[in-house]
Amino acid sequence: MGRPVQSNSEKLEQWFAKQQRLLPWRRHYRPYEIWVSEIMLQQTQVATAVPYFKKFIRAFPSIKKLAAAKQETVLENWSGLGYYSRARNLHRGAAYLVEHHKGQLPQSCDELLKVPGIGPYTAGAIASIAFNQREALVDGNVQRVFSRFYGIGSPLESSATQKRYWEIAGDWVKNALNPRDLNQALMELGATVCKKSQPDCPACPIQRECVARKAQTQALYPPPKKRKKSVSLYWLGLVQTYNGKYYLEKNPAGTWWETLWDFPRIEAKTESDIPKRISSLLKQNEIIESCRPIKKVKHTVTHHKITMVGCLIHLSQKTPVAHQGEGKWFTQKQMNKLAKSSLVSKILN
Ligand code: SF4
Repeated sequence: MGRPVQSNSEKLEQWFAKQQRLLPWRRHYRPYEIWVSEIMLQQTQVATAVPYFKKFIRAFPSIKKLAAAKQETVLENWSGLGYYSRARNLHRGAAYLVEHHKGQLPQSCDELLKVPGIGPYTAGAIASIAFNQREALVDGNVQRVFSRFYGIGSPLESSATQKRYWEIAGDWVKNALNPRDLNQALMELGATVCKKSQPDCPACPIQRECVARKAQTQALYPPPKKRKKSVSLYWLGLVQTYNGKYYLEKNPAGTWWETLWDFPRIEAKTESDIPKRISSLLKQNEIIESCRPIKKVKHTVTHHKITMVGCLIHLSQKTPVAHQGEGKWFTQKQMNKLAKSSLVSKILN
């Protein structure tokens, strides 16, 4: 009798058993840790996320502890990772779980989807990875693997394409011996072997049936996303200091970096317009003792490309010359601990 034919799902699972990276959340597969790691990994590379994950779990070792913490403290422990809405959602989600599920994550996708901040991908990840439920998941890595494996060239943004990926993911997990391993294997393959550029096909456990490998068309899949036309923004960031303290304000709700601390800023039309803004600021405010550009930083938010020139302004009075909202004065040490916008962190670095 010959050996039974192995499904592609099984091949992947076997590969994952040998090749997986050792990551802190894979040690015990605790549902809370899987949730935190999945949220962190949404916009952050694994290597960057690991130290932040450890710090976050040390600060908030359980859902109940996270729910009981102040939002400010949660944001401080997220500081440096960016995309703070993820931290706010985790915090909101924890409060919901304490109220409705005794501080535990539910096992079913339907219940998980009711938790604030948990969408279809995260629900599938928690159900399958934490609870080994036969649930599908699709993220960017999985899309890339399927796109090449099946030669799917339709646009990623289309809902029909998305539906197709979810159906394929459902079929693969149906054939898995262990849903937890299969889903992680798909993502791991996309992250480490079927990479965006130069996929390492000879090392791929499912290479035999891969459409793109056979036709050597890996670079064509998945098709690039349509990008919105980029918009350039130019800002003057005011680092106002008086008597060893610095003035920062909280961004209001509904704006970029909401509730995070920021330097007040003045908009300019172009980069060359920034020095004129500095001159008029000096003319209008006698309490400015000196004003010196200290750093130019660049940052991208969706299709907006921001250039900000940080200007160190020494004041002769404890009165900020420009402010948009409610602000406070902080020492350098206090400022380092604050949950700040990415722009502030870049200027302080
Ligand atoms: Fe990706 Fe190559 Fe594997 Fe195909 S054979 S899935 S292109 S790594």
